[in-house]
Amino acid sequence: MREHGCSEDSLFSFLHAKKSEDRGYHRVLSSMCSLPHPVAVRAHMLFLETNLGDPGLFLGTASLEAMLIARLGNLLHHPRAAGYATSGGTESNIQALRIAKKRAAATSPNVVVPESAHFSFDKACDLLSVEMRTVPSDAQFRMDADCVQDAVDRNTIAIVGVAGTTEYGTVDPIEVLSDIAVDRDLLLHVDAAFGGLVLPFIDGSEPFDFALPGVASISVDPHKMGLSTIPAGCLLTRDEKTLHLCTVDTPYLTVKHACTLSGTRPGAPVASAIAVMDYLGRDGMQAIVAGCMKNTRRLIAGMETYGYPVAVEPAVNVAAFSCPGVPPGWIVSRTRRGHLRIVCMPHVHRDVIELFLEAIGEMNAGKTD
Ligand code: PLP
Repeated sequence: MREHGCSEDSLFSFLHAKKSEDRGYHRVLSSMCSLPHPVAVRAHMLFLETNLGDPGLFLGTASLEAMLIARLGNLLHHPRAAGYATSGGTESNIQALRIAKKRAAATSPNVVVPESAHFSFDKACDLLSVEMRTVPSDAQFRMDADCVQDAVDRNTIAIVGVAGTTEYGTVDPIEVLSDIAVDRDLLLHVDAAFGGLVLPFIDGSEPFDFALPGVASISVDPHKMGLSTIPAGCLLTRDEKTLHLCTVDTPYLTVKHACTLSGTRPGAPVASAIAVMDYLGRDGMQAIVAGCMKNTRRLIAGMETYGYPVAVEPAVNVAAFSCPGVPPGWIVSRTRRGHLRIVCMPHVHRDVIELFLEAIGEMNAGKTD
C-alpha cells in the first residue's frame, strides 16, 4: 500500500488506463456475458452498497430478491418456487448438488451428469466429495438417456440435465430425465444458467422447467441472457423445504438462518436483473432473443456457404462449427471436441456477424491463393 494517498485525478487516470487494456466485448464471440442493459447499470448504481447477506438491514432490496425469484418461478412454470440470488451458474450448481447430498445421505454418493456439463460440476463434485458419473452425448450432442438409466444406482443422489449447453447450445432430453427422476426418486437438477432466459422466449421450445414433475431445481443466470450486471445468478427449487436443507444458523445477523453459500451478497445485480425484466417485459425479452436467434441462423448459413457446417442445429444462440481456422482479431473459443464455438450474444449485432463472415471469407481466400 502507498504510504500517502494519491490525488483523485491521478487515481482515475490510472484506473481509466487499466480499463482501456480490457478487451470489453469488441469482436468477442466467445462470451456468455454481454454488455448490461442501460437500465441494469442505472439500477445497479442505485443499490451499490446493499448487502443481501444481512437482509434485515436492506428490507427493500431483500424484497426485490423475493420478486426476482417469483418472476423467474413464474417464467419457469412454478410461481411458488423457492430460491435465492447466487453469484452465477457455478454457485447455483454447487448448491443444487449440496442439497442433493443432504437429501439423500448416501455413504458413497454419485451424481449423473451429461458429457456436456459445465465445468462447475467438476468443482461441485470435488468440493462435496461426490463421484461425478459422466454420461455420453448422442449424435445430436444431447445427453443419452439410455445411458442415464445404466449409470444410476442406489448411491445416485441426483441427475443433472442442461438446457442450453455451453458448447453446442442444445437441450438435454429433460422430459425423459424427469420420468427417470420420478421413477427412481432422484433429484433432477436442470442447469439452465444460459437457456433459462432464452428458451421461454422461443415458441415451440421443448419443456425443460418445473412444468415437468421430476425437475427439483433450476439454475438460471440473469447476468447471461438477462442483460443484468454481473454477478447475477439464481437457484430455484420446487419447494422451500428442499432449499433449506442448506440452511445454517447466522446468530450475529439480522436474520438467524441462511441457506446461501456466500455470506456477504450484493443486492445491486438483483436490482439490476429485476430492472431489465420489468423494463423490457416479456415482449421485449422475446425481441432480444429473436434477434440473437436470427443472427445465429445467419451465422450458420454464412459459415455453411464457406464449407464450414454447424455441428448440430442449436436450440439457443450458441453455434459450433467444423472449422479449423480463426480469422485474426476475433475472439472465439473451441469446444472440448475441437469445434469452433460462437455465442451470438446481444452485443454480437448483425453487422458484427457480417464482418466475421467476411473475415472467414478472406481467411479462405488466403488459403487457396
Ligand atoms: N452452466 C452453464 C450451462 C454455463 O454455460 C455456465 C457458464 O457459462 C455456467 C453454468 C457457469 O456460470 P458462471 O460462470 O456464471 O458461474
